[in-house]
Amino acid sequence: MTAPPTSAATAPLLALRDVRVRIRTARGTITPVDGVSLDVHRGEVLALVGESGCGKSLTALTILRLLEPPARIEAGSSIRFEGTELLALDERALRAVRGRRIAMVFQEPMTALNPVHTAGAQVAEVVRAHERVSRREAMDRAVAMLATVGIPDPAVRATQYPHELSGGMRQRVMLAIALVLDPALLVADEPTTALDVTIQAQLLDLLREAQRARGASMLLITHDLGVVAEMAQRVAVMYAGQVVEEAPVGALFAAPLHPYTEGLLAAMPRAGTVRRELATIPGTVPPPEAWPTACRFADRCPYAWQRCRTEAPPLHDAGDGRRARCHLVEEPARRADRHAPAAAGTA
Ligand code: SF4
Repeated sequence: MTAPPTSAATAPLLALRDVRVRIRTARGTITPVDGVSLDVHRGEVLALVGESGCGKSLTALTILRLLEPPARIEAGSSIRFEGTELLALDERALRAVRGRRIAMVFQEPMTALNPVHTAGAQVAEVVRAHERVSRREAMDRAVAMLATVGIPDPAVRATQYPHELSGGMRQRVMLAIALVLDPALLVADEPTTALDVTIQAQLLDLLREAQRARGASMLLITHDLGVVAEMAQRVAVMYAGQVVEEAPVGALFAAPLHPYTEGLLAAMPRAGTVRRELATIPGTVPPPEAWPTACRFADRCPYAWQRCRTEAPPLHDAGDGRRARCHLVEEPARRADRHAPAAAGTA
């Protein structure tokens, strides 16, 4: 577990503690985010990874309280940002944080952008929502920001509507909206997934440059470990609503501690290797109403033994900034007894 903050200088910019999201459904109450604790430090990129359905996007939405009912954040959860408990803020105070101090970049800009406003107006509107500036000044800043995010002819593009722009261009407009007020934290949820590979690479470069140049922090949500390797300093892996591993990126890629992370890495296509078939993790993430009561990964884990099916593993501190929710941290000899999960399945 990360040490509690000691001063403003050393405190994490963002600290999630024991965050739980509950949803009442026709089949009962589920907890798709179940006790998540995470820190994002100043100037760092923390990647949150996992398959779809593991709770990573819901976790991101809790930060700015953007969850839609019937989802709700449970009492006892804590989200501190710049020393302020976000879960205690009223809607007005929260609006002052949204956009100005924390900005979000979503996966699908066509749904996040307003179709009836021009690109320039949407960037300018963010400026005017938070600062007392004239329309003219806000639009000048919008055009300058569109240029910064690599939009050619920004003054012309500023007058165009989202449907007149390409997918890559729309995502750049989203980025301009996110960056125009110099936020301290960017929350980017699969920011390039919907785009083709070349545009993805350009936008990731842009995102990384913008984050570094501004000294901002980023929580980057992705299912793509290639993106993690390029962008992040630390990574947290989620499975079935919980963080199952947290580590500096280099250490995680060199020697993952959790079998789920091992499986994700084995399934990652690598440049320069010819593999006709890609290894996958057998099975799928179980739905929240069917999570095993002991280790949630047990049904898919090649190392599972009796203890895994009777005792829920805690998030063990494994030293050097590493944590893993797995009994193998206490019984490492069992790892050597098994074959690596890379050979566990193919697709
Ligand atoms: Fe696998 Fe057991 Fe570790 Fe769960 S606790 S991930 S089943 S080895």
